[in-house]
Amino acid sequence: MSDITQSELEMTLGNNVIVTQMTQAVNWARKYSFFIYPFITACCGMEFMSAAGPRYDLDRFGAAFPRFSPRQADLLMVVGTISHKQAPILVKVYNQMAEPKWVVAYGVCTVSGGFYDNYSTVMGIDTLIPVDVYIPGCPPRPEMVIDGLMKLQDKVQAETLSDHVKGPAPVTPPERLVNI
Ligand code: SF4
Repeated sequence: MSDITQSELEMTLGNNVIVTQMTQAVNWARKYSFFIYPFITACCGMEFMSAAGPRYDLDRFGAAFPRFSPRQADLLMVVGTISHKQAPILVKVYNQMAEPKWVVAYGVCTVSGGFYDNYSTVMGIDTLIPVDVYIPGCPPRPEMVIDGLMKLQDKVQAETLSDHVKGPAPVTPPERLVNI
């Protein structure tokens, strides 16, 4: 039995049995059941609403259900400009999310700071937390958001179980910058 290959096993069993690996099955389930935490700070939020609405229908990808508690979300969608004052809050939200978790940088402001090349703006959220997918644009069109989501699905499907533990953010911005 141990010498039989997977294709020989599938030919023998026909369509009665699906042969797969645990990792493949778990990743398939995960990539079609994202729970999005929308961290929305600026104008990109308007286009995010469009992408999430019925016309573009993110529910087709299993990603239409936003959660407003980071402990119940696994996809952090960072939408809009992030200032240094907001940075500790973003890092705290990321750290509160359970594993496995993924991050999407939505729009050029989150990707690189965009045209806000000044003292108050974070020059890309990947200086604070790990980012899985970057979606460019000011703002990105919904088609680009869908494309980014599909790329994230491909990434999730290719992960191994050891990829899932990312740990806390490598950077802890000073809390003294928060004045709210
Ligand atoms: S990328 Fe453009 S639309 Fe999005 S938050 Fe920045 S300025 Fe606004």
